[in-house]
Amino acid sequence: MKKISVLGSTGSIGTQTLEVVRQNQDKLVVTAMSAGRNVDLFEKQVREFKPAIACMGDEEAAADLKQRIADLSGIRVLAGMDGMLEMASDPGSEIMVTAIVGMIGIRPTIAAIESGKDIALANKETLVCAGHIIMPLAKKMGIRILPVDSEHSAIFQSLQGSPAERISRIILTCSGGPFRGMKADELADKTCEDALKHPNWNMGKKITIDSATLVNKGLEVMEASWLFGVDTDRICVTIHPQSVLHSAVEYADGAVIGQMGTPDMKLPINYALFYPDRMPMNARKLDLFSVSALTFEKPDTDTFRGLALAMDAAKTGGTMPTVFNAANEEAVARFLDHKIGFLDIYDDIEKAMRDHKVIPDPTVDEILEAEKNARAAF
Ligand code: NDP
Repeated sequence: MKKISVLGSTGSIGTQTLEVVRQNQDKLVVTAMSAGRNVDLFEKQVREFKPAIACMGDEEAAADLKQRIADLSGIRVLAGMDGMLEMASDPGSEIMVTAIVGMIGIRPTIAAIESGKDIALANKETLVCAGHIIMPLAKKMGIRILPVDSEHSAIFQSLQGSPAERISRIILTCSGGPFRGMKADELADKTCEDALKHPNWNMGKKITIDSATLVNKGLEVMEASWLFGVDTDRICVTIHPQSVLHSAVEYADGAVIGQMGTPDMKLPINYALFYPDRMPMNARKLDLFSVSALTFEKPDTDTFRGLALAMDAAKTGGTMPTVFNAANEEAVARFLDHKIGFLDIYDDIEKAMRDHKVIPDPTVDEILEAEKNARAAF
C-alpha cells in the first residue's frame, strides 16, 4: 500500500485525488489530509478515509471538526500553518499531493521534502515563487517532484525515455479560455460569471479566472522552467482550443513527442501517484474520430496581458514572480467579489510589479514578506 497525504483535500484537485484513491483502494491509503474552511465536506472525507491526521485551516474550524468526529478514535486533529507543517513532516506518508491553492503551500511543501517525501505537485505557486529553493532541496533530499498540472504531466510523460539535455523546446498548450479571440473592448465588461465558464476544464474558481486572463499559462511557464530546467525563452505557449494535446517536447533532432487524452485531471494525478507505472483508470477514452481536427494558434499577448506580465516577472526573477502572483491573487479575489473589472486584473498586477523593489535570490521569509507587502498595497 502506498501511503499518501493530501494537502487541500476539499478542493478541485483534492477531491479528484480522493476519487483516484477510491478507484485504487487496494493500492493507496490516505494517512493525512488537510482542508481550509469547508468542515462539512472535510468531515465526510475524514469519515470515509479515516486518516491518522486531519488538519483544518484555522483553530475554529479544527475545533468544529474535533467535535463532529468525537465518535471516531485515532485521528489527530491539527490546525493552521503549524498543523500543516506537522502533517507535512509526519513520517506516516511517503508522498504528499499539494492540492492547496496559493503561496500558503510553500512552507508545508518544503517541510514534506525535508522529511523525505515525494511531492505530487499541483500547487504551482510553490515553484513560481520558491523554485530556486524547492528544486535544489528536492535534489539534495533525493526526492521526486511529480507534476500534477496536466500540461506539466504531459511534458514529464513526453520526457520518459529521451535525454532531457536534448530538449530543444517545450510546447506548452493552452485552451485560450472562454474569451479566446476577443479584444480588449469586448473584455472590458466581462463578469466573473462569464469568466468562470471554462470551455474544457472543470477547475477551482481562482485557476479558472487565471485561465481566462492567461495568467495561469504564465504561471505554468515559470513552473515548467523550474521543473524541467528549461529557460522560459524555450517554452513556447501555443493556443490549442480542443485541449487534446496536453503539451509536447521538441527534441534536437526535430521530433515532437506529446501526450494526448481527454481533459481529465485524474489522469495526471493517477500518473503521479503510480509513476513510473500506468495504472488502469475508469475514465472516458479519447475518440480521435469525434475530435477530427486539432488547431494551434499564437497567443494574443497584447490583449491577454497576463502572459506577457508573467514573462516579464520570470525574466526579472528574485521576488518579482511572488509579487506577480500575490497581486494576481488579490486582484482575482476582488474580481470574484465584483469589485473590479476583468481588465483591471492586469492593471493591478502591472502596478504592483512597477512598485516593487526586487530582492534577488530571496529566502522563504523574504518571499513571504514580498507577498505580504504586495497584498498590503491593495
Ligand atoms: P481549490 O480552490 O478548488 O481548492 C483549494 C484547496 O486548498 C481546498 O481544499 C481549500 O480548502 C484549501 N485551502 C485554501 N486556503 C487554505 C488555507 N488558508 N489553509 C488551508 N487550506 C486552504 O483549488 P484547485 O484544486 O483548483 O487548485 C489547487 C492547486 O492546484 C492550485 O495551485 C492550482 O493552481 C493547481 N492546479 C489546479 C488544477 C485544477 O484542475 N483545479 C489544474 C492544475 C493545477 P477549503 O475549500 O476547505 O477552504
